[in-house]
Amino acid sequence: MSCSAAAGAEAAALLFRSPAPSTIAGRHRLAVSRRTPRRNLRTGVQPHQRSTPSANHRNRVSIQRDRAAASIDEEQQQQKSVDENELLNIQLEDLVGMIQNTQKNILLLNQARLQALGHADKILKEKEALQQKINILEMKLSETGTQSVLSSEAKSDAEGLEFDVVKEENVLLKDDMNFLKAKLIEITETEESLFKLEKERALLDGSLRELECTFISAQSDMLKLGRQQQDAWWEKVENLEDLLDSTANQVEHAALTLDGYRDFQDKVEKLKASLGATNVSKFCLYLVDILQQRVKSVEERFQACNHEMHSQIELYEHSIVEFQDTLSKLINESEKKSMEHYAEGMPSEFWSRISLLIDGWSLEKKISINDASMLREMAWKRDNRLREAYLSSRGMEERELIDNFLKMALPGTSSGLHIVHIAAEMAPVAKVGGLADVISGLGKALQKKGHLVEIILPKYDCMQHNQINNLKVLDVVVKSYFEGNMFANKIWTGTVEGLPVYFIEPQHPGKFFWRAQYYGEHDDFKRFSYFSRVALELLYQSGKKVDIIHCHDWQTAFVAPLYWDVYANLGFNSARICFTCHNFEYQGVAPAQDLAYCGLDVDHLDRPDRMRDNSHGRINVVKGAIVYSNIVTTVSPTYAQEVRSEGGRGLQDTLKVHSKKFVGILNGIDTDTWNPSTDRFLKVQYSANDLYGKSANKAALRKQLKLSSTHASQPLVGCITRLVPQKGVHLIRHAIYKTADLGGQFVLLGSSPVQHIQREFEGIADQFQNNNNVRLLLKYDDALSHMIFAASDMFIVPSMFEPCGLTQMIAMRYGSVPIVRRTGGLNDSVFDFDDETIPMELRNGFTFLKADEQGFDSALERAFNYYHRKPEVWKQLAQKDMKIDFSWDTSASQYEEIYQRAAARARAAA
Ligand code: ADP
Repeated sequence: MSCSAAAGAEAAALLFRSPAPSTIAGRHRLAVSRRTPRRNLRTGVQPHQRSTPSANHRNRVSIQRDRAAASIDEEQQQQKSVDENELLNIQLEDLVGMIQNTQKNILLLNQARLQALGHADKILKEKEALQQKINILEMKLSETGTQSVLSSEAKSDAEGLEFDVVKEENVLLKDDMNFLKAKLIEITETEESLFKLEKERALLDGSLRELECTFISAQSDMLKLGRQQQDAWWEKVENLEDLLDSTANQVEHAALTLDGYRDFQDKVEKLKASLGATNVSKFCLYLVDILQQRVKSVEERFQACNHEMHSQIELYEHSIVEFQDTLSKLINESEKKSMEHYAEGMPSEFWSRISLLIDGWSLEKKISINDASMLREMAWKRDNRLREAYLSSRGMEERELIDNFLKMALPGTSSGLHIVHIAAEMAPVAKVGGLADVISGLGKALQKKGHLVEIILPKYDCMQHNQINNLKVLDVVVKSYFEGNMFANKIWTGTVEGLPVYFIEPQHPGKFFWRAQYYGEHDDFKRFSYFSRVALELLYQSGKKVDIIHCHDWQTAFVAPLYWDVYANLGFNSARICFTCHNFEYQGVAPAQDLAYCGLDVDHLDRPDRMRDNSHGRINVVKGAIVYSNIVTTVSPTYAQEVRSEGGRGLQDTLKVHSKKFVGILNGIDTDTWNPSTDRFLKVQYSANDLYGKSANKAALRKQLKLSSTHASQPLVGCITRLVPQKGVHLIRHAIYKTADLGGQFVLLGSSPVQHIQREFEGIADQFQNNNNVRLLLKYDDALSHMIFAASDMFIVPSMFEPCGLTQMIAMRYGSVPIVRRTGGLNDSVFDFDDETIPMELRNGFTFLKADEQGFDSALERAFNYYHRKPEVWKQLAQKDMKIDFSWDTSASQYEEIYQRAAARARAAA
C-alpha cells in the first residue's frame, strides 16, 4: 500500500515538474480521451434487488458504506482540485521555461522518460500484487460459495429462494472475477504498449540528437549545403514525423486501453456492491476495497505516465517545428548566399558542367555543331548571360533550356585555347603515379588562365568513382574502328577537380577497362591503342574546333600518328598535337603489325624515320609520337638533357633530330591537394608560421604505426615511392638500416609491380616487425601518404634517374627536408644546403651524386647533424622549404606559351 502511494505521489510530482503539454502548440495534438467523472455505482440500482429482511439488512450496510465512500470521494475531490490548481500554476511556469530553452526541455524529457520507465516498473509490480490478491479473493469466493450451499440446506424452503439468488449472484461474481482477470491481462498489454512507447520515445530521442548534430554541422558548413543534403534533411524530418505519428497512434491506443480500464474499475465497483449485497464475507469486502484502491493507484499512475508521455511527445513536436523553422531559414539563407556567391563569379566546376552539357547536346544531335561551338565559346569565356539563363532555368524542360541558350549564341572569338588532354591517368580519380598529378594539376592551372580544358580518360572499373561529380552517361554511342570492325562506346561525362572529363567505356568483348587494375595486362598495347582511337573519334564526331590535343606517355602516344594519318585526312585538322613523355623508360614497343589494330598503316609507319624502333625491328609508339607531334615535352630541363644521351633509352637520336620541338618543363604540384594548412588527411593542419601541427602529426603517425614515442626529437625519415629499379631500390633498402644505425626512425610507403622486389621488401618488413623505429608499409595508400609527408622530418628520393619526381616537392611543402640524388627533376628542384656555389636562398635540402651507399650516407649524415646539432637552423630550413612556390603557375605559363605558338602557326596555315 505505502509503496503504491509513494509511487503515485512520485508520478504526480514528475508530472508537475514536466512542462505542461496543453500549453504547447504542437502540430499533431494527440486526441487522448479525458476521463469522465466516475459514477458511484454503489448508489445505482442493483440487479435482482428485493425487499426482503436480508435485503433490508443489505441496504443498511450499503447506506453505511455509501456514507463512508461519499466522505472519501469528498476528500479525493478536494485533493484533486488542489492538485489541479498547482498543476495549472506549474504548467504556466514550465511554458515560459520551455520556450526559452528547447535544449533544456530535451534534457527534462530524458529525465522524465527515465522516471516514467521507473513508474512503469512499479506498475508492473503492483499488477503482480493485484493478481495475487485477486487469486485470494477468488479462493475466498469459492469458499463462500461452499458455505452458502451448506447453509442453504439448513434453512427453510422460504429462504431457499433467496439463497438461489445469492448463488446466482455468486456465479455473477465469479464471472466478474474472470472479467477482472481478463482486464488484468489487458493491463499487462497496456504496460507492454507503455514499454513500446518508451522505445519509440528513445528512438525519437536518438533521431532528435542526430538532427541536432546535422543542424550544428549545417550551420558551420552552410555554403556547402547542396540540394542533396537538404533533401536528406527533409527526409529525416519526415521520418521523424512518421515516427511521431506512430507514437501518437500508440498513445491513442493506450488511451483507449485506459478507457477499457475504467470499465474494469466499474466492474470492481459492481463486484464490491454485489459482495456487499450478498454480505457473504467481510473479508471479501475488505479485499475488494484493497483491490479497488490498488486499481485506482494503478490507474492514477497509468494516467500520470500517459500524461507524461503525452507532454513529451508534444515537446518533441514542438522541437521539430522549431527545427523545421530553423532549417527553412538556413536553407533560404544558403540559397541566398550561394546566389550571392554566383553573382560574384561561378566556380570552374559550374563552367565545366555547362561545357559538358553543351557537348552532350551536340553529340546527341540536339543542337548543331556550329551552335555548340558558339555556346562552348561563351561558356569558355564565362559569359554571364549563359550563367543567368542556366540559373533561371531550374525546373525547366531540357528543350526550353536549349532554346534559351540558343537565343544567346552569337559568333565570337576567344583569346583562350581549347585544350584537350588524352591520358591514361588523372588524380585523384585514376592515379598510379606522377602522370595523374600532372593531368589534374596542369589542367587546373591552364583552366585558371582562361583556357577551355577537357580531359578524356578510359572508364576503368577500378577508378575512384566517388571523386567524380555529376557522372552520367550520354545518350549517344560513339562507334570506333578496331581490328577491322566498328565497336560501340558509351561516353560518360563528369567533373573531376572542377575539370570537365569524358570517360570512354568500350563495348568491345575484350572488356579493356574491366580488369581491376590500370596497367600490367597482357594486352595493354591493344587496350590503349583502342582508347586512343576512340578519344580522337569522339573529338571528331563532336565537331569541336580544338586548338591543342595533348597526349601523355606511350599509352596515348598513338594519338599523334592517328591524328595526322587518319583524322586530318577527314578534315579534322584544326588542332596541333603536344606529346609529353613522363618517362623514357616506357616506350610502347610491339610487333609492327600490332599498329594495324587501331587503323594505322603499318607499311607507311614501319620506317626508321617514323615509328620503327631504333635498335630492333619492332615499332615504338613513343618514337611515333616524337615524330608526329608538333610539340614534344618532358618533365624537367635536366631530364630533357639526360634523354638526349643515354637517358633516352635508344631514342636519343630521334630526339636530336626533333630537338627544335623538344623542351623540358619542370612539373608543378597541385598546391590545393598538397596543402598542410587545409589537408583533411592530417591530424592537425599547420603552416610554415606555426609548426606545432607538424610535431602533432609526427606523434600521431608514431602512435598509428606503433613506433616509439620516447624521444620527440628522434628524426623521422620518410619515403613514398613505387618500388622499381629507377627509384634506387638498393639505396632505399640501405637507407632503412642506415637510419636505424643513426638513431632515427624510418617509414616506407610503397609497393612494387616487380615480384622479386616486393618479396624482398616483405622480408625486410618482417625483419623489422617488432622494431619500434622502422615501419615498412608495402601498399598504395593516398591518405597515409599525406600523413607521412606531414610527420616526417626528412624525405629520401635516391633515384637512379628521375624524370621530374613530385615527392621531393610535396615533402618540402610539408616541411620535410629532402635528401635526393642529383638527377633529372631532382636536380632542378633540390639544392644542397652546404653547396656554396648555389645562392643561399635556393638551398633547400641535401643531395648526393654517386648512386652508391657512401654517396647516400654522406647526405643523410649531414642532415642528421644539422637536425641534432643546429635545431634552429633546421627549423628555418623546413620553414623556408614550405614557402617555396612549387605550384603549376610557372610551368603552366611555359606550356601556355608553346601551345600559343603552335596554335598561331596552325591558324596561319589554315
Ligand atoms: P612516379 O610518377 O615515377 O611514380 P613521382 O614522384 O612523379 O613518381 O609521383 C609519385 C606520386 O605517386 C606522388 O604523388 C606520390 O605521393 C604517389 N605515390 C607513390 N607511391 C605511393 C604509395 N604507395 N601510396 C600513395 N601514394 C603513392
